[in-house]
Amino acid sequence: MRPPLPEGPFLVVGLKRSGLAAARTLAARGEEVIAVDAGLPDIEGLDGVEVHTASEGLELLDRAGAVVKSPGVPAQAAVIAAARERGVAVLGELELGWRLLDREFIAVTGTNGKTTTVELLGHLHRRAGVPVAVAGNVGTAVTGLEVEPGGVVVCETSSFQLEDTVAFAPEAAILLNVEADHLDRHGTLAQYTTAKLEAFVRQGPGDVAVLPEGFPDPAGRALRVRFGPGGELDDRDGALWWRGERLIAHAQLALRGAHNAQNAAAAAAACLARDMDPEAVRAGLATFAGVAHRLEEIARRDGVLYVNDSKATNVASTLVALASFDAPVHLILGGQGKGQDFAPLRAPVARRCADAYLIGEDAGRIGEAIATGRPSGDLEGAVAAARAAAAPGEVVLLSPACASFDQFADFEARGEAFRALVSN
Ligand code: ADP
Repeated sequence: MRPPLPEGPFLVVGLKRSGLAAARTLAARGEEVIAVDAGLPDIEGLDGVEVHTASEGLELLDRAGAVVKSPGVPAQAAVIAAARERGVAVLGELELGWRLLDREFIAVTGTNGKTTTVELLGHLHRRAGVPVAVAGNVGTAVTGLEVEPGGVVVCETSSFQLEDTVAFAPEAAILLNVEADHLDRHGTLAQYTTAKLEAFVRQGPGDVAVLPEGFPDPAGRALRVRFGPGGELDDRDGALWWRGERLIAHAQLALRGAHNAQNAAAAAAACLARDMDPEAVRAGLATFAGVAHRLEEIARRDGVLYVNDSKATNVASTLVALASFDAPVHLILGGQGKGQDFAPLRAPVARRCADAYLIGEDAGRIGEAIATGRPSGDLEGAVAAARAAAAPGEVVLLSPACASFDQFADFEARGEAFRALVSN
């Protein structure tokens, strides 16, 4: 049983995907809903909702019984701060969605690998014949999801969503890893970690907490399950093991790379601790097709493998991508560098790459930092040059370590452009 909602009327703050879903769902339940956004977002399908745009919403607070906050709205926003000061209940959209959906809930958090792990968990449940809905930070909002009884919700939960939870206590929570990221908004690493651990602190004894081996115990009373070398879901001798039984060899995992083996271990631990059949877990791990733009193998042409890792918008992501290949790599790098230090790429590029092809705004800076690479202008030039140079058995990898906004609308558009160029 979930806690009930506070009394309305509801003031929904922030009208992007999650806020819109919250406003729509509350209105459909017959609640009185006022919706506000400081900007001018595209708004569709908010029938029966009083909408205010280009407004901070402070004057609307008097009429609200509770506030629903979208994850994109900062805690310092005037209306949020005022609501807290006046003792008006503030719920994040995740909290709202969780309260409205009384189904087994698996929350996935961590700095890297959330989307991959969430989609993998979806696949594992489908393979096991369990109805499942996948939601969260990327894709679909939790609020308004429908899952048949007996089904499972798998939800990607960012630290921004977790910091607005009140009673949120998922039946299973997974922490993948914690790296310094988003420190601009969360202040210190300790505060950022605290936000991530919100997924665990209110869990009860019947719940499952999946954590990296060696990570300190969080508060909460859930059954703790560790993954990684030495954990209950062990990673040793080229295979994953569950409670001492060999589950699957790395070579049989559908996704390549040590980072994806960690994601697989975490997902498997959550499923096995909740008594999913190990055979279904094994079959699912071996057949997962992966997520678009993340080490996505898009084609094999003339013996050359083309891989789209457009989601790699920072140096760390490109490093894990490079480490995932044994064959010589023709690496396409560049875009907007966001002031990063590209020097850490120098040695791995020298070791693993047949050549590098540099594109976009920061091509010159990257070339200096890695002391190699061909200036290729744009993606089209880079793909043409890489295709001409690559020999059978080699890999052409788009893993740019940069944001895309100088030449593309977003990383998805960059990945789609790569796909189109490769299939030309
Ligand atoms: P998120 O949703 O957390 O951003 P994704 O699944 O989209 O994560 O993966 C984003 C990038 O993070 C990948 O392209 C890869 O470079 C890197 N990554 C994925 N899993 C891990 C992991 N377990 N550890 C470190 N890096 C990872």
